[in-house]
Amino acid sequence: MEFERKNPLTGDVASTAQAMQASDIPAIAARAAGAFPAWSAMGPNARRAVLMKAATALESRADAFVEAMMGEIGATKGWALFNLGLAASMVREAAALTTQIAGEVIPSDKPGCLAMALREPVGVILGIAPWNAPIILGVRAIAVPLACGNAVILKASEQCPRTHSLIIEAFAEAGFPDGVVNVVTNAPADAAEIVGALIDAPEVKRINFTGSTAVGRIIAVRAAQHLKPCLLELGGKAPLIVLDDADLDEAVKAAAFGAFMNQGQICMSTERIIVVESVAAAFAAKFKAKVAGMAVGDPREGTTPLGAVVDARTVAHCQSLIDDALTQGAELLTGGETTHNVLMPAHVVAGVTQDMKLFRDESFGPVVAVITARDEAHAIELANDTEYGLSAAVFTGDTARGLRVARQIKSGICHVNGPTVHDEAQMPFGGVGASGYGRFGGKAGIDSFTELRWITMETQPGHFPI
Ligand code: NAD
Repeated sequence: MEFERKNPLTGDVASTAQAMQASDIPAIAARAAGAFPAWSAMGPNARRAVLMKAATALESRADAFVEAMMGEIGATKGWALFNLGLAASMVREAAALTTQIAGEVIPSDKPGCLAMALREPVGVILGIAPWNAPIILGVRAIAVPLACGNAVILKASEQCPRTHSLIIEAFAEAGFPDGVVNVVTNAPADAAEIVGALIDAPEVKRINFTGSTAVGRIIAVRAAQHLKPCLLELGGKAPLIVLDDADLDEAVKAAAFGAFMNQGQICMSTERIIVVESVAAAFAAKFKAKVAGMAVGDPREGTTPLGAVVDARTVAHCQSLIDDALTQGAELLTGGETTHNVLMPAHVVAGVTQDMKLFRDESFGPVVAVITARDEAHAIELANDTEYGLSAAVFTGDTARGLRVARQIKSGICHVNGPTVHDEAQMPFGGVGASGYGRFGGKAGIDSFTELRWITMETQPGHFPI
């Protein structure tokens, strides 16, 4: 059985993929578990060599990835190529980690006892990835788990099965032993049942999930029934604070990029720009001018910074947040009509307050709220008035002040004088609160995808009290 993914812009079939059923899952889990012992026993340099080949195999598919992402999610070529570049970098970083999966020797109070903390692979790891940054997030779900010696199952997104399957094709070309890298594709209606069957499979030992907070909660509950650890990378409502001494031109550039790159469909997207009163008018004028010049268009023409959003539901959701804010007295600085169902222009809504939906609900689309704060303390209070806590940013001419403010923001990530959208393979990436828990990236990823064991060796005769 197959299912179709339609191009959100044209309505044409963008891709077809196998509509797997829950009854297919036991065999896939068993295949992965069967491949695990040999892969985990391979030396770190042998694992590294395969991962390095996978990075090159990914890059060699650039044209196919661009076509798949444009067709399946309406992405621009720029976003597709950025995805590919960072994803290849993540695989190379994972390759570099294979010799860094180190333990330690811990002083023991017991005479003659050598005590060690050793890191061991876990077994089969399930990675569930969304559509919005599909190469980055599909690769992130499996690269470090593989480097640590685990077998993996990637649960592809229903919105981009071709893009996610291209990752698996590249990894297959790199020469992972049979069964080490697996993919599951499914029709949207079967998602809950398939994901449930995957979490329940006894061979699956850990789960990582990138997606919405609502589905993250479902997954955490299901995993908890088996006491299986989860890493959850969920939604966000990232604040960007502009203080009175900020370089406004820099703040405007970073805010426009952070709010509208990939049409605002990034978990780190700037959703709330919090500007201190004394510079609010000057910032608004410059920001309005910048955003008004950022056109939306058919990504296949490659002439506009904004492409299509993933579906008409996103437009309706964003529009409802905008309407709610405008009805309550907010002001539309720039916007416009959506054409072709999914070509939604960049919208900036100023004068947003805490009782408006746009202040709290993730838009995950091309709309940003501008909020005025009385002063620095109020800006921090507003930034922290959210259930989410993934990324944040602070703009100020005084970097020490920026660091002090950054330390007071409740988020996993905060950038001083940089955009909220920033990811690198070697950084600890993750959030707090409703944005999830656990960290991908660099050495933090080793913690997430290995079991830390305590092993001792006695070197003297024992003395026991009984
Ligand atoms: P989503 O949660 O709707 O879907 C993610 C996956 O969950 C889907 O592929 C689907 O297979 C599965 N799923 C859907 N319903 C399910 C159910 N009832 N039970 C079990 N599984 C189910 O997310 P999405 O729309 O693909 O992605 C957008 C969201 O992801 C946004 O909220 C965004 O902020 C978040 N996101 C977070 C990060 C991060 O790193 N924190 C990165 C990208 C996106």
